[in-house]
Amino acid sequence: LPSTRIAVVTGGNKGIGLEVCRQLAGNGVTVVLTARDETRGEAALEKLRGLGLSNVIFHHLEITDAPSIARLADFLKTRFGKLDILVNNAGVVGLEYLHDHIDGTSTTSEKFGGMDTYERIELLLKWCFRETCDAGKACLRTNYHGTKQVIGALLPLLLASDDGRIVNLSSELGQLRLFGNEALRRELDDLEALSEARVDEVVAAFVRDLEAGAAADAARGWPAGAMSAYTVSKAALNAYSRVLARRHPSLRVNCVHPGFVRTDMTVNFGLLTPEEGASRVVAVALLPAGGPTGAYFQDRQQAPF
Ligand code: NDP
Repeated sequence: LPSTRIAVVTGGNKGIGLEVCRQLAGNGVTVVLTARDETRGEAALEKLRGLGLSNVIFHHLEITDAPSIARLADFLKTRFGKLDILVNNAGVVGLEYLHDHIDGTSTTSEKFGGMDTYERIELLLKWCFRETCDAGKACLRTNYHGTKQVIGALLPLLLASDDGRIVNLSSELGQLRLFGNEALRRELDDLEALSEARVDEVVAAFVRDLEAGAAADAARGWPAGAMSAYTVSKAALNAYSRVLARRHPSLRVNCVHPGFVRTDMTVNFGLLTPEEGASRVVAVALLPAGGPTGAYFQDRQQAPF
């Protein structure tokens, strides 16, 4: 075991996360599949074991719960003494689901097969989701603060690896061009001046506006549309990833947009299978040593944040 690479995948029980676990394990990496629900996590583990993958283990992880994160860190420290790959996959969309039973795959292929990504997203938002303040706040708490907490706790173990990597699941909906406020957009893209504290402040300001019902005011300059909390969460995670990459040059810290993928999150409206989406994530996780850090990948290529 000590010579094999060790990976942790958050939200590994379904969707893209489960596929990332399968593909990493298939590449000879020892995978710690984590899930916030023991039953769903164990069931996912059984699925992978059924495929003949014996190099996967399960550990509980709720990424918004500090004691849960600490228990995972203790387990990894005792069992492996290091961590080589952390895939921060767990995330939520920041909207309340109206119909989680719609199968977008069959619906769209029958009626809307010719639609592109943005047309599908528009339809998805209209049919399946409602924007609420609570869901928006949960999105920031999970996608940004939760992921940061996991990174903070596992960082010493990643630094103990001779080739530690962090791959954060981002989104093209997290791109800075979606922010109306040009000064903020430039600030979040100014790597020299950017700090973790400033990214935290931006997120806190958005949450205040969300609570005050002002997040959608054009004058505030937050991302327009129903997915503003999700966009802010992923843009903030991108910015934090770049700060982290700069702070720890021995690590590879990168962000990946998996594509628009058919999972529960997208009510199966996506254009790619989880297998295709996960392969883009795994490709970045397994880049040759000495590759890019602080980068954003989309369509299998580096792209601007
Ligand atoms: P799913 O909804 O299918 O899966 C999300 C996973 O995250 C589930 O395992 C879920 O657990 C877990 N999770 C959510 N909150 C927490 C938490 N607090 N603690 C631990 N686990 C949690 O989504 P996808 O597979 O589609 O998405 C995976 C990632 O990819 C997300 O970060 C998403 O933002 C990103 N992404 C997805 C795209 C897509 O088109 N699907 C596009 C761009 C980015 P549970 O089953 O218990 O709810």
